[in-house]
Amino acid sequence: MVLSELQTGEKAVIVRVHGHGSFRKRLIEMGFIQGKEVRVILNAPLKDPIEYEIIGYKVSLRREEAKQIEVVTEQEAREALVSDEHLQALPGDLEEAQRLERALEHVAQERSHNIRVALVGNPNCGKTSLFNIASGAHEHVGNYSGVTVDAKEGHFKYKDYDITLVDLPGTYSLSAYSPEELYVRKNLLETMPDVVVNVVDASNIERNLYLTTQLIDMNLRVVMALNMYDELRHKGDKLDVKQLGYLLGMPVCPTVSRTGEGIPELFDTVIKVYENADPKLARHIHINHGAEIEQSIKTVQPFIAFNEDLKARFSTRYLTIKYLENDKDIENLLSACSNIQDIRDARADEQQRIQGLLDTNMESAIVDAKYAFIQGALAETYEKYQAERPRRTITDKIDAIVTNQWMAFPIFVLLLWFIFWATFTVGQYPMDWIDALVGWFGDWVGGFMKEGWFKDLVVDGIIAGVGSVLVFLPNILILYFFISIMEDSGYMARAAFIVDKLMHRIGLHGKSFIPMVMGFGCNVPAIMATRSIESRKSRLITIAIIPFMSCAGRLPIFVLFAGAFFPGNPATALLLIYLLGVLMAILSALVLSHFVKDDDLPFVMELPPYRVPTARAIGRHTWEKGKQYLEKMATTILIFSVVIWALGYFPRHPEASKAYQQEHSYIGMVGKAIEPALEPLGFNWKMDVGLLAGIGAKELVISTMGVTYAQEGTTYEEGDDTALQAALKATVPTAAALAFMVFVLLYFPCIATFTAIKNETGSWRWALVLCLYTILVAWLCAFAAFRLGLLVWPV
Ligand code: GDP
Ligand code: MG
Repeated sequence: MVLSELQTGEKAVIVRVHGHGSFRKRLIEMGFIQGKEVRVILNAPLKDPIEYEIIGYKVSLRREEAKQIEVVTEQEAREALVSDEHLQALPGDLEEAQRLERALEHVAQERSHNIRVALVGNPNCGKTSLFNIASGAHEHVGNYSGVTVDAKEGHFKYKDYDITLVDLPGTYSLSAYSPEELYVRKNLLETMPDVVVNVVDASNIERNLYLTTQLIDMNLRVVMALNMYDELRHKGDKLDVKQLGYLLGMPVCPTVSRTGEGIPELFDTVIKVYENADPKLARHIHINHGAEIEQSIKTVQPFIAFNEDLKARFSTRYLTIKYLENDKDIENLLSACSNIQDIRDARADEQQRIQGLLDTNMESAIVDAKYAFIQGALAETYEKYQAERPRRTITDKIDAIVTNQWMAFPIFVLLLWFIFWATFTVGQYPMDWIDALVGWFGDWVGGFMKEGWFKDLVVDGIIAGVGSVLVFLPNILILYFFISIMEDSGYMARAAFIVDKLMHRIGLHGKSFIPMVMGFGCNVPAIMATRSIESRKSRLITIAIIPFMSCAGRLPIFVLFAGAFFPGNPATALLLIYLLGVLMAILSALVLSHFVKDDDLPFVMELPPYRVPTARAIGRHTWEKGKQYLEKMATTILIFSVVIWALGYFPRHPEASKAYQQEHSYIGMVGKAIEPALEPLGFNWKMDVGLLAGIGAKELVISTMGVTYAQEGTTYEEGDDTALQAALKATVPTAAALAFMVFVLLYFPCIATFTAIKNETGSWRWALVLCLYTILVAWLCAFAAFRLGLLVWPV
């Protein structure tokens, strides 16, 4: 009987909870566990939800939910007292109530040991052979598809479980195209097997895993029987079965159903999964369909989840994916929803968006993403015997080169080098134009205004401040243009793949690599890009080390200092600074991986087929990143450049020179106040003021120092680097300059990055700890640089 059929006042004991994973998990958390007693407080025929009492708590369940809970009623227990010999053997002196109690327990226990197992797999993968050998049946086994057309049931006892085994027709997928597919799907969702055994032909694993990905979407309890394992062995292929199981989130048992090898282990595992004996054995994963499709799922899913009754019966993620694929059966199911129009509209929008971006329809984009997942999982676990020369697709041919063990890294480094060259060398031209434009705009606006603080605020505070950031927009756009091409063409997935092993050594994943590279442009979008990393641990560490990746905002500081102090070799100095950042990132990751709680679940790195990216997708992705940068500029940086400006502008000394003004302003005072803390690094208060301004944005360091360093009586022209360089060279020892570069590289990222860290980790504490950590690291490294520098360039 199921719980919803119980009348008000009746009592029962729970046998099991059916349904998909997240539903079951929720009910288990509420206390609906096998063997627990539940009582109906109120169940009126038209009432929904129904009220229950379980382990002393009152809870209400929707009727649809209560239907998924199988129970033993008192009535059933009473009948068992008469018929069940085990219960008749109960001692005679027990009171009636106690006898009933015992009977309830006993029947619930016994029934919970009846488990229903369904065999699902491609045609010809050996389901019927497995069915026969396990159940002792003699169903017809044939080496052609379509032999099994309906479900055959067999019963057998295994250990102290009664297993009902269901042999379902073979299918390649669970779409609604063929009657077999629909039949299997209906069977899985309606007769609700306790455990699904996904029979997979190991000699044809890639195609077989497609069905597996759909079972994963449905969020059922699945055990994989990796059948025909003898053939895999015979061919000499190698498969890391355990790792594959980890990646797919389900246990994988090699079997040979022709001989029975591995069958007992298979059913041992089925029972363990059924009893939730080992949480590590199975976990629910989401197949990552790529950013764009995941975005579509995220948009449509809430409209479907709005229908509470569906949530009890199906995984709404599964429904959403199927609906996006135009699945007729799911369309029928959803057509009864009250908000069907919203659902339809959301889907139409998303399908159109995907069509425009990826230039394929949603359905094939989802299929591709599933195969990318399979490719990734197999690339990590499966090794084909070399003698066999499989026919090769274009993707295979490209991969043979770019993931080749000798060429992968050189190609990768060359590409990165090219991208940086384009970003910073080609990017210089538009940078100069924007710079000139901002200067001209400031003068032009200033021309209309009366002399006074307001004019200074607008021209020096707002326009110059924002302008100093705007100049980096071309860099950012160029960098992200190339990153988008690498991502959309499928190369980035390979890059992540080839660095994965290296990244694992520092407690990260291959997927951490892309955000780290993006960090060279601007830390803010880089931190946002860590969303694609499934593991929380890897994600937190990646976020923590991105600030050490020197962003474009720090570049002009290095260029200026390297030009002034290391005129022989500015490029080498620059490179070393960047490398120091990477080194500190690696060391920090190593340290942090000891402190962050381990949830290091493996996940599949998808390997999509190579594809020429559409101009539209590239344009959109590039622009999105540019927009994030501009948003940061319009908010945080605008506010901070005004604040920094004001701190340098007040209190007023109207008659004095700019430099005098700066020195006796608030920022000058703070700079002088922190001077003792930074003195061991060789910095003077003017440099400290620059660093303070850098808290707002690294871009502000140079313009602030330009003002402090302007000579008495001379005016320092904006962008006139050589004057500032000369002034610095005259007053700052080389060792201190080196220490300053190191400090700028490593210290507190910037307000915008700080905010991004807080938002993405969801914790102020984490952001604050990181902030202190970077300052500490910066101080120590700069101190070391200063001391070592003094040995080379004594003052
Ligand atoms: P079904 O279509 O999934 O029900 O597959 P069948 O059980 O009808 O088996 C298809 C063919 O594969 C038959 O010829 C079986 O003898 C053969 N077969 C089944 N399991 C194995 C196995 O583990 N190893 C090998 N080598 N052959 C198997
Ligand atoms: Mg069969």
